[in-house]
Amino acid sequence: MRKEEFVHLCRNWPVQGGYSLAGAVVPLVRTYLFGNHRRKLPVIWLEMNDSGDNNISFLNATSPYVGQVFTYMIDLLYSNPFMAAQGPDALQLLTNAAREYSGKFTLVVEGAVPTKADGLYTVIARTPERPLTAWEILRWLGPLAEYVLAVGTCASFGGPSAARPNLTGSRPIQDVLQRPVIRVSGCPVNSDWFVGTLAHLILYGMPEVDDQGRPTLFYRDTVHRHCQRRSYFGQKVFAEKLGDKECMYSVGCMGPATLADCPYRQWVDHVSWPVKANTPCIGCTNRDFPDGSTPFYQSLAQKRPKEGGRS
Ligand code: SF4
Repeated sequence: MRKEEFVHLCRNWPVQGGYSLAGAVVPLVRTYLFGNHRRKLPVIWLEMNDSGDNNISFLNATSPYVGQVFTYMIDLLYSNPFMAAQGPDALQLLTNAAREYSGKFTLVVEGAVPTKADGLYTVIARTPERPLTAWEILRWLGPLAEYVLAVGTCASFGGPSAARPNLTGSRPIQDVLQRPVIRVSGCPVNSDWFVGTLAHLILYGMPEVDDQGRPTLFYRDTVHRHCQRRSYFGQKVFAEKLGDKECMYSVGCMGPATLADCPYRQWVDHVSWPVKANTPCIGCTNRDFPDGSTPFYQSLAQKRPKEGGRS
């Protein structure tokens, strides 16, 4: 498949009636790897300072299930959220993977990096001598990776982990690594965004990203542009309270200032998305989320006067 066709597929799969994007891309990747005698994408996956929401969202990939992403797309060499090994065995696996796949693995990171107290707020492993912090492990592995993928808004931009008053000194991973990072933001990430980006890496290499480092495959238009309540907005008919069926701009919706395809991709197999579930978009893919989205239920014109009403 040509790259342009793949991009079209990723963007339009939901509107063509497809469900989880994995259902379309796993067979493509499988055929490509088999036909070209290529190996699966080697991945080292680190979870740092976040709520674990991103790997839970990823586990929602269905039809096919996430097990098939592991079986046919990626070779998961180490993963502190998913692996069964613990303690010295897990650390040995990580050390071996970093050595054997140096320059060839993709580093997937969930969560921001705590940097206060020498990074002790997140410890990934312990040796007899000392704890190994997320901060130290990231600085070790970051330069060895072929690609670095930030999954979720904490890893991408700091997110809730770095929100005021940021007691742990949490930072986005690019601040620590000073190298290009693909930022698949969202709180949590949509499994389609993550699986589609992985597939792009396997099939065509680095995806096109916007000025925030997010793949334009999924973060091209505002939430507002495709929202099902957009006609209310056009007619200036606004909700008076949460639960009303009109446009929720008046009760804090960040859709006009947020890039994501949630209105038509939706979540958990196209079941729903925030506006459909009667809650405003809170701008979770944005660089300044959550501080730039608060107070959540105040209109965009009040919380960000220069951007109010942008479409
Ligand atoms: S402001 Fe929010 S609810 Fe209103 S149309 Fe835009 S995205 Fe939809």
